[in-house]
Amino acid sequence: MKVPCSAIVIGAGIVGASTAYELALRGLKVTLIEAREGAGLGTSYANGGQLSACEVAPWAGPEIPALILRWLGRDDAPFRLRPKMDPEQWLWLLKFLLRCRASARAERIPPNLEIALLTRARLAAYERAFAEAGTPLDFQRKEKGILRIFRDVHAMKEAERESAIITRMGLEQKLLTPAECAALEPALGSAMQRGDIAGGLYAASDSSGDAHLFSRGIADGAARLGVKFLSNTSVTRILTDGSKVRGVKTTQDAVAADAVVIAAGTETRALLGPFGIRSYIYPLKGYSVTLPAPEGNAPEVSITDEERKIVISRLGDRIRAAGQAEVGGYDLTLEPARARSVLDALEGVLPQVGPRREEAGFWCGLRPMTPDGSPVIGEVPGISGLFVNSGHGTLGWTLGPGSAAALASLICDPAPQPTLSPFSISRF
Ligand SMILES: Cc1cc2nc3c(=O)[nH]c(=O)nc-3n(C[C@H](O)[C@H](O)[C@H](O)COP(=O)(O)OP(=O)(O)OC[C@H]3O[C@@H](n4cnc5c(N)ncnc54)[C@H](O)[C@@H]3O)c2cc1C
Repeated sequence: MKVPCSAIVIGAGIVGASTAYELALRGLKVTLIEAREGAGLGTSYANGGQLSACEVAPWAGPEIPALILRWLGRDDAPFRLRPKMDPEQWLWLLKFLLRCRASARAERIPPNLEIALLTRARLAAYERAFAEAGTPLDFQRKEKGILRIFRDVHAMKEAERESAIITRMGLEQKLLTPAECAALEPALGSAMQRGDIAGGLYAASDSSGDAHLFSRGIADGAARLGVKFLSNTSVTRILTDGSKVRGVKTTQDAVAADAVVIAAGTETRALLGPFGIRSYIYPLKGYSVTLPAPEGNAPEVSITDEERKIVISRLGDRIRAAGQAEVGGYDLTLEPARARSVLDALEGVLPQVGPRREEAGFWCGLRPMTPDGSPVIGEVPGISGLFVNSGHGTLGWTLGPGSAAALASLICDPAPQPTLSPFSISRF
């Protein structure tokens, strides 16, 4: 393939903004087009903040069908299905249920981990380069690890067994007793005393940070490298000449380029639709709550509470919890009861947040989710120059910058690294 001179990236979330930056680093003339007024205002706005290379297993797994049945009809359930008259939803669900096998889950861990490790390397490189240029990339990163806590010993043993794949790939995780969990993260003291913690699995090398600040920062960095950022501009159609891409039509003007990257999150489906190509990316709605960190006893370590199905991250002087998964279409209405259940779960594990409860800000977003828990990264078959970098689902922060670097390498480098065949759009 001839290396393109110019590229358009559609969408300025974590994934698109990083992709624009990586392509500009390789010398391409890049236009980044975003429907909203700035970068990181879609699903990348207020996620759980975890950069969790040690937790890249897909959600689809053998325990999921029983959990879905157990939670059916419960308004505060961590998972909810809202059936729609949309064949895309049913096809997605069917493919998701077919992936609810231990072997299918295990199969996705190594490729996801490779991209997550690339994210780690790229974030470190960005931080270094931005600092050297005198424009630090501050996204309130905390390099204190991620602690998964379990109430159920059986679930903990199962997680430990699954984590063996990660350990074999060189990442250490440590099993902790309840007392060791509280010693590592004193904010968990009262949960430990109540007998709420049967043990923990600690990944010291993982970290957390604010994905919105990152998206904005990397988009600014891309602009400094010459990337043209068109905000408040929607791409309405991808333009082709026979089987070759030639640009996009937008709500403003048409823009020409040799390559187009779709990094439009859950809108990827709409952009691929006219070509008769299915991405199998479907929205999975989630909620987060952000409130001032309690003085004196706020967590530093990022926490995954496996019983309550929430993640918790410290972001500067704030604390954020995120959770909930709803397969129910593209509706972004914030349901107060669902949002409050995330806050209740947070207060359940960290009662010290209680006094600041009234100051909580709620948010919901749509995870662009594939059935198998890996993103789609690569060229669209049959349309030369059209690429997808989307479908990062529950792992967009963990995988986004890595997938951006990998795709930029595919587009520009004579010997691209790493191989992207596990992420092909044709795998479904
Ligand atoms: C509650 C919750 C918690 C989460 N927690 C974590 C976590 O702890 N760790 C983790 O790794 N991941 C987490 N995620 C997942 C992560 O946030 C997403 O995977 C990630 O934000 C997806 O990024 P994106 O760039 O693909 O999509 P987005 O951020 O949605 O960006 C896509 C952009 O494309 C734009 N766009 C769409 N269509 C067009 C068009 N036609 N023209 C122009 N622009 C367009 C949109 O406006 C949007 O800004 C969480 C998600 C949720 C909802």
